[in-house]
Amino acid sequence: FIESGKISAKARDHGKKMIKEGASALEIAEAVENKMRELGGKPAFPVDISIDGLAAHASPGPEDKTILQKGQLVKLDLGAHVNGKVTDTAVTVEVGTNKWAKLIEAVEKSLENVEKLIKPGTEIREIGKVISETITSYGYKPIINLSGHGIGEFEVHTAPTIPNFDNGNKEKLKEGQTIAIEPFATVGVGQVKEGKGSGIYELMNDKPTRSAQVRKVLDYIKENFNTLPFSLRWINKLPNAKFALRTLEAEGIIHQFAELPEKSNGITSQAEHSYMVGHGKLT
Ligand code: MN
Ligand code: MN
Repeated sequence: FIESGKISAKARDHGKKMIKEGASALEIAEAVENKMRELGGKPAFPVDISIDGLAAHASPGPEDKTILQKGQLVKLDLGAHVNGKVTDTAVTVEVGTNKWAKLIEAVEKSLENVEKLIKPGTEIREIGKVISETITSYGYKPIINLSGHGIGEFEVHTAPTIPNFDNGNKEKLKEGQTIAIEPFATVGVGQVKEGKGSGIYELMNDKPTRSAQVRKVLDYIKENFNTLPFSLRWINKLPNAKFALRTLEAEGIIHQFAELPEKSNGITSQAEHSYMVGHGKLT
């Protein structure tokens, strides 16, 4: 987990520097994923580049043409794994303007304020309470249906859920637990909804499929990504990859994540770090 965290942090900082007016979202995503590989890790999920009112789960597909524009608010969310040990981190960058500095500060300050609570015995609701109070003090709303989470082996999201508000959960953090905390702040209503398909997929229910070509793609997915999310970009060289994904999705073998726009399309910022409880920050 420590190695994985270092790789995630370096890849994040590399990608952050690339977020500039005129840059290609696809090029940034691939550069960040390649950085993780170069450093000895693998991407634990496709790099997300979610812009403005899109809060999360927007990952450039193989033919994505998005070019970053001045004034956009870009959330770069990524994670590496080393032998399955996943870490998860995110940063928000404003492209060429300084309109949203406070919105970015609200989420960064939230993480700073909860850091001293990340120790054995802290009630999970306390973390949510501090995040919510911090974001509200800046005049924004926390997104209440996006949460931090446990991180595990070949699992990006495990128990516990770490809310961005006081959800009353008195369960306590435990020594050695690996978690990701990710406050989101918005000028909108403070919730996300499900948008269009994201092009991010995950193995859901491993069962037989009839076509040999589709089976080849399924075998490749199992061998290379196990139960971790993956992108069409990562299997695009296989014959009939698109058809295979459609078939596997229709058969309920893989699941496609939806993009998550803020309900009122409100501009949204995010910050995220991974931690090992009692041992500090991993990313
Ligand atoms: Mn993340
Ligand atoms: Mn996360």
